[in-house]
Order: sequence, then C-alpha cells, then structure tokens
Amino acid sequence: MTPEECKQVFALLSEYIDGELPADLCERIDRHLDACPPCIEFIESLRKSTELCKALSARESPGRLDHQARAELLAAYRRSALSRSAKRDQ
Ligand SMILES: [Zn+2]
Repeated sequence: MTPEECKQVFALLSEYIDGELPADLCERIDRHLDACPPCIEFIESLRKSTELCKALSARESPGRLDHQARAELLAAYRRSALSRSAKRDQ
C-alpha cells in the first residue's frame, strides 16, 4: 500500500460510509481496506463517530428546531424593522 492510495481512500471515506459512492469506487476502497490495517482502523472509528453524530442529532433535533425558529423570528423582525426604516427614509 502506498500513502498516496491511503490519501485517496481518506478523501472518499465519508461518502463511502454514507453509501454515496459509485460501485467501482466502492470496490476500489474495499480492495484497499482488505490490505491496509491502518485504514480499516480509521474507517471503523469514523463509522462509529458518524453513527454517534447521527444519534446525537436525532435526539437533539427539537432543540435545534427551537434554535432555528428563533433565528427565523429574529430575521423576520430585522426585515420588518429594515422595511419600516426604509419607508421612513422615503
Ligand atoms: Zn490505507
């Protein structure tokens, strides 16, 4: 295995884990992983942290929605304030 190959694998790993890669690229990565223990270790830890992230964001989505709603309210408030001051300036 050459470091160059590892770099190419790393560049595609997140898409590989998400199943977004075309089959030929998946095969190339599978072949590389068969023969490259450091990459196997890396992909396992990445997969674990990806699953952790997904689990966390699923659990925290109500909080994030809350945050988004507040941001939208603020933006709407700012827009209406801006349009009011624009009217005043005319
Ligand atoms: Zn490798």
